[in-house]
Amino acid sequence: FSFLLKGYMDSRSHNKLHIYFLPMMAQGHMLPMVDMARLFARHGVKATLILTTVNATLVSKTIDRDRELGLETTIRLINFPSAEVGLPEGIENHSSITSPEMSEKMYKATELLQQPFENLLEEDSPDCLVADLFFPWASEVATKRGIPRLIFHGIGAYALCVYHELSQHKPYKNVESDSEVFVVPGLPNKITMTRRQLPDHIRDGTETHLTKLIEKAMEAEVTSYGVVINSFHELEPAYSEHYSKTIGRKVWHVGPVSLCNRDNEDKTHRGSTISINEHESLTWLDSKEPNSVLYVCFGSLSYFSNVQLLEIAMGLENSGHEFIWVVRKEKKKEEEDREEWLPDGFEKRLEGKGFIIRGWAPQVLILDHKAVGGFMTHCGWNSLLEGVTAGVPLIAWPLFAEQFYNEKLVTDILRVGIGVGAQEWCRWPEEGKIYVKREDIEKAVVQLLVGEEAEGIRSRARALGEMAKKAVEKGGSSYNYLSALLEELELNTN
Ligand code: UDP
Repeated sequence: FSFLLKGYMDSRSHNKLHIYFLPMMAQGHMLPMVDMARLFARHGVKATLILTTVNATLVSKTIDRDRELGLETTIRLINFPSAEVGLPEGIENHSSITSPEMSEKMYKATELLQQPFENLLEEDSPDCLVADLFFPWASEVATKRGIPRLIFHGIGAYALCVYHELSQHKPYKNVESDSEVFVVPGLPNKITMTRRQLPDHIRDGTETHLTKLIEKAMEAEVTSYGVVINSFHELEPAYSEHYSKTIGRKVWHVGPVSLCNRDNEDKTHRGSTISINEHESLTWLDSKEPNSVLYVCFGSLSYFSNVQLLEIAMGLENSGHEFIWVVRKEKKKEEEDREEWLPDGFEKRLEGKGFIIRGWAPQVLILDHKAVGGFMTHCGWNSLLEGVTAGVPLIAWPLFAEQFYNEKLVTDILRVGIGVGAQEWCRWPEEGKIYVKREDIEKAVVQLLVGEEAEGIRSRARALGEMAKKAVEKGGSSYNYLSALLEELELNTN
């Protein structure tokens, strides 16, 4: 047993601390927070994750494994208020919603969790609370109990800075059209954007449940104890500094937290039931040359119209490169012979060359395989960071949220990838509209995998991947940040 624990536990045990982790019910927020809780537990903390029933089933296997290793990670269940908000039973995660109306209901549910959450706090009396930004009430609750509340945004310091400066200066108000370029002022680098790349609510100033929630979250950020970030200092040093010194937040970079998934079993079961046989993707990748395969995946929330999917298929085929493509669609019975979004005979034609995963892929497992030489990503923060951590060059295809900000980090600041040419922020795409053409997709794939720039991009990506891994090892920047945070919290509880 002690042999198993060796290498999993930090030598210095913060065994007095009990920390509550309250993640937002979306994979891009929940998975890193689950990883974070596991990471804290490896430093000797007693970590309790607060999850709704359906979400708990997605991660319970991983938590059970950690417990078998002797880590003190526990799940406490909380009821999702399906009936109160009018969502069907079983829909408890943003990845299952299919319309803006359902999305609003999901956000409403986050408010209703306050009372049941307070009841749990009363029973357990933890020493600290790490809560997602989408629970602004958590700061008030923590204050009431006299414990610190740390906030987790799910995004990096760079995007937090862009967001902050945009809302302070509103440079998008000084341009004549949606396509006119403006500079985001006050940042360490010159970041240019257009209004088309900004979220709807910033662009047209509409108020929704979500915008009000974000406003409250930003207020709660100011009064919270500090911010824990899933990133590492070396990735965004100027922004880490800007966020702490100029904007004035107390910050701890503790990532990349996905690195706490050390073996294939952990990587395979991260987040959901994968839609393929456990070994299928690995066997397929094993047969490929190093750096030859493009991995294509757009996170857990993306929607594409059939015509756009068809365009992706053609772009990939025309590039002539091998690929794994994750499509968030299950094959329906009536589609046994033909799916509308796939060109006729596509899979047969590309047998052995193109591998489609319908549903959920073991992303971290795939990215870590040596055959993967590129990642076409929507630039969700976790995907971006997981790609960087694996040392893989990126093709940026931002869709919504802060992804257009992140694209500039990839292409202009870190220079570990290229853009596919996406221009328009869009959460719910129009049926029949093509946002990125097949020629642009083909061009980007070829440019990333064999083009002139490819070698430079690859070596920068590789170097960054090494830095990421070092950051979480003993003596690395994230390791030290986490140790410092835990020591500080320990002092607070004495
Ligand atoms: N993910 C995965 N398999 C999939 C799709 C997503 O493992 O098929 C994981 C991915 O590794 C990442 C998270 O889900 O950790 C998605 O978060 P991200 O911030 O990239 O995007 P979002 O889903 O929030 O748009």
